[in-house]
Amino acid sequence: MSSVTVRVPAKVNVQLSVGPLRDDGYHDLVNVFHAVSIFDEVVAKESELVTVRVEGEHADQVPLDDGNLAIQAARALAKHAGRTYGVELVISKAIPVAGGMAGGSADAAGALVACNELWGLGLPREDLMEIAADLGSDVPFSLLGGTAVGTGRGEQLTGVPTGGDFHWVFAVADGGLSTATVYAQCDRLREATGEQVAWPQVNDGLLAALAAGDAGRLGAELVNDLQPAAVMLRRSLTRTLDAGRELGALGAIVSGSGPTCAFLARDGDHARELAAALSGAGVCRLAVAAHGEVPGAEIV
Ligand code: ATP
Repeated sequence: MSSVTVRVPAKVNVQLSVGPLRDDGYHDLVNVFHAVSIFDEVVAKESELVTVRVEGEHADQVPLDDGNLAIQAARALAKHAGRTYGVELVISKAIPVAGGMAGGSADAAGALVACNELWGLGLPREDLMEIAADLGSDVPFSLLGGTAVGTGRGEQLTGVPTGGDFHWVFAVADGGLSTATVYAQCDRLREATGEQVAWPQVNDGLLAALAAGDAGRLGAELVNDLQPAAVMLRRSLTRTLDAGRELGALGAIVSGSGPTCAFLARDGDHARELAAALSGAGVCRLAVAAHGEVPGAEIV
């Protein structure tokens, strides 16, 4: 086999609850991840060395050295197999960079699946999940896809049932936000307001809405504890979120650490109308209609 192509989805957190800051600097999280139909493609080709090339919009903002998560994934897999392997990775990016949709994690998951196949390792998904968890807390979900509850730092995953497709619009902003900066801002805000931060709990109303395929109810149950911090760092997001609500979105939320905003629509037609209206309203760089849930990283 000289080349393997893997397609891997973006995610939106329909719930992101952030617990108190721990002594080790991390937070306990409750995440409900939902994979949506915005895909990066990772192609793995035979090569002596481990290299990466990135194509697509904002490719220039993605590192090409060992800072690239796909390179880290390939190296971690080779190490796990106890061999020295090479690969030329070519990533076509559709997932916004530093947009709160786990683009880097998606590419890492894509590289794991592609290299496992290219190198003929035949490792089971459980092994890939373990390697993924060491690479970053969102990487296991990018492998799994669907809809899942993540606890701990987000890496212990349990699939949750959904009763149908959900239709979304993602308003992509100009420029990204650093996840670490948004968490730090969240801590500062909480300290400044003296907020007593509760232990994060799964929102049962949200799980019921997912299970019922009830977009109206899901829209009302969306949770993102990072949203106040993201909006504070990027004031223009208030206008974006308000515009989506005024245009009839069933729910409006910052995606993960932002700055992408996610809007829930009634159906596919409504999502396309909403995307066109948001694009025309001048409140984002680009608005994209998508649906979920979709599978995780898979060979195409
Ligand atoms: P998350 O939602 O997981 O917090 P994000 O979607 O906000 O992440 P990413 O697109 O994953 O952000 O990018 C975060 C940073 O990771 C980028 O600024 C970039 O420097 C770095 N990075 C490393 N590898 C990649 C990659 N393959 N694709 C995109 N960014 C990458």
